[in-house]
Parts: sequence; structure tokens; C-alpha cells
Amino acid sequence: MTDKNQRHQKRMKRKKELIDKNISAAKEEKGLLLILTGNGKGKSSSAFGMIARSLGHNMKVGVVQFIKGRTDTGEEAFFSSHADVDWQVMGEGFTWDTQNREKDIAAAQKGWAEAQRMLADPSYNLIIFDELTYILNYKYLDSDAVISDINKRPNMQHVVITGRAASDALCNEADTVSEIADIKHAYHAGIKAQSGIDL
Ligand code: ATP
Ligand code: MG
Repeated sequence: MTDKNQRHQKRMKRKKELIDKNISAAKEEKGLLLILTGNGKGKSSSAFGMIARSLGHNMKVGVVQFIKGRTDTGEEAFFSSHADVDWQVMGEGFTWDTQNREKDIAAAQKGWAEAQRMLADPSYNLIIFDELTYILNYKYLDSDAVISDINKRPNMQHVVITGRAASDALCNEADTVSEIADIKHAYHAGIKAQSGIDL
């Protein structure tokens, strides 16, 4: 073996030892709270990707969509008829579409009642609260009450929250927070939303 290849092999061996050590040090298992936030594209689609992962492990999934954008999404069409998926759409549309604060608040409260039902039921292994951050930032729901309900959930239940501008209060409670940056988006080049990519 050449010197270069030998050095590479030695380096990789050391790296593997370190990775294996870190993997075996992570022992805890618990229901996680994940936040997917930021201005870039990929928050809801990432959350919905975890539905596929969960179903692959025979897990039961709940979804509450707090703000319903444009037309029906492909994920809703595909997943909502699945026996192990409970898909609830509570939004009335975007706030700038409804232009009715009272109606938005009523929809948010109805949505959170569905959320509470799922959070109280340990048979739900994964629950997604899509676009919840807007509801909290507009103060349609009380943030402390929402956090308290989430923290009371069964020990092994995972919760994923999506939406821009997740508050510090929410992020502090979370186990995993990812912020997706908006580097560029086709929409700004005048391209309309594409099925399979944007909805
Ligand atoms: P996706 O559902 O594709 O994962 P998202 O959940 O990150 O997107 P939202 O803010 O919920 O983003 O918006 C959903 C829709 O808006 C999608 O059609 C998405 O492509 C589009 N969108 C997301 N981010 C941007 C952006 N920075 N500029 C323009 N359009 C965007
Ligand atoms: Mg989204």
C-alpha cells in the first residue's frame, strides 16, 4: 500500500472509533419535540416526510394543519386515507385571505382541541402541528398553554412543529430545532407552484 493510502486508512480507522464511541454514548430514548423553522422552502415537506418514516415502522401518526394554503397538498391526498394517519385540517386559509380575526381564532381553537385529543392519546407515536408558529405569533392561541399541553404528552410521543419565526420560548422547549434558510426560490423568478414540489 502506498504511504498516502496507508495514511488514509489510519485516519478513517480513528474516525470510525470516534463515531462508534459517540453512537454508543447516545443511549437515551424519548419522545422528541422538533421545530422546523426559517424562511426557506422545506419545512412542511420535511415534517410530512417523517410520516413516511413512521408508517414504515408501523407507527400511528396525527397531523393538524393550522393554516391551509392554496389547494390540497399531495401529502394530504396520499396520507390522509391511510388507516394509521389521522389528518385534520383546521385552517380557514391564510389570514390575509380570511381577513377575519375572530374566525381565525375560532379555527385555531378548534385545531388545538384536536391537538389536545392526540396529545392525550399514547397510541399516537408522531404528531405534526403544521404552521403552528403563525397561530402562536398572532396570539390566536396562548403560547404558554400550548407549551404546557405539549410537555404533558406521553413519554414516547414525538411532536413536530413547522412554520416561520418560531419563538425563543418554543425553541427552548424543543430537543431539535432546524432553521431552513431562503437562499433562492423559483417563485421569485416568476415560476408558479409546481405539483409534487410545492404542493
Ligand atoms: P414546503 O411545504 O414546500 O416544505 P415550507 O413549509 O417550508 O414549504 P411554507 O412557508 O409553509 O414553506 O410555504 C409553503 C409554500 O410556499 C410552498 O409552495 C413553498 O414552495 C412556498 N415557499 C416556501 N418558502 C418560500 C420562499 N422563501 N419563497 C417563495 N415561496 C416559498
Ligand atoms: Mg409549510
